[in-house]
Amino acid sequence: MNRINPYEYSDNNKRYFSLTYYKKINTKKDKYLTIDDVTNSLFNKKSKEYNLILKTNFNYLKNNIEIINKLKIDGLYITEKQIDINEMANIFENLKPSLVIYKCPNISKINNELIKRNTYQGFNKSILNTVKREIILNVKENDYAIDATLGNGYDTLFLASILKKGKVISFDIQEKAIINSKKLLQNYNNVTLILDSHETINKLRLAKKPKVILFNLGYLPGGDKLITTKAKTTIKALKISLSILDDSGLLLVVIYPGHTEGKKEQEEIMKWLNKEKINYEIKRNTLNEIAPFLIEIKKNN
Ligand code: SAH
Repeated sequence: MNRINPYEYSDNNKRYFSLTYYKKINTKKDKYLTIDDVTNSLFNKKSKEYNLILKTNFNYLKNNIEIINKLKIDGLYITEKQIDINEMANIFENLKPSLVIYKCPNISKINNELIKRNTYQGFNKSILNTVKREIILNVKENDYAIDATLGNGYDTLFLASILKKGKVISFDIQEKAIINSKKLLQNYNNVTLILDSHETINKLRLAKKPKVILFNLGYLPGGDKLITTKAKTTIKALKISLSILDDSGLLLVVIYPGHTEGKKEQEEIMKWLNKEKINYEIKRNTLNEIAPFLIEIKKNN
């Protein structure tokens, strides 16, 4: 198993791609299809010996995103020498994330543009971009939020930066997390850090019901991998969270099935949601089943 970036995995049967660099993992030959092949319906994948790559120009791509997303192809080869960075970034946001880009002009500029956009959620980038996007779409700057798993504080930092006139309350059981995050958050006075388990969320006395409660599960990046969130306490805290959430609020849970406790959390949380008939939506950035994914619960659903 190759580790591509801290949150994503790849195995030898499936290839996942990061825009900043691509690496062909398997040794299949490449077979290029033209737009004519596609229109002649030759695109349905039959052979496992080839990577089927659609050779396309920018205009065709731009006008046929939906069709391309349905094709059983492995990747794209974009033929122009130069293309518009913004327009291409728009297209990448809408293409299915499993596609490998074998050739594309201005790729590093496009990547920089995508990184600037909080909406970017494709091509093996962190699922946390999806989390950010959902938060941006659902909060106003005077809302309250809870980060149930502070960690190194990056999610809290993001929340604090958009809830300028609101408040963020963040929990962690490790002092190290609180210390690391304090430095990161020193310029924000709308944040309260609590050294305690998120099971104690119900003790909070808030002036306003939180609009977002985020659980970014797992262990502290760069810390002790044995100190991780646990299915039983996570579910207890999720129950409390649903009860204190604003009626139009969002409960966001990022699960990391790539490690043992994370897999267990996935199973137990899904069991609980289904048993309680809680409506949820699963959001994934890759087809890789052990990659982190998001469970989104809208309270008023
Ligand atoms: N949001 C973080 C990553 C989270 S890591 C970031 O952006 O970096 C998960 C964190 O949950 C770890 O720091 C761990 O100490 C913490 N944690 C584990 N069990 C917890 C519990 N019961 N209550 C609160 N935090 C917990």
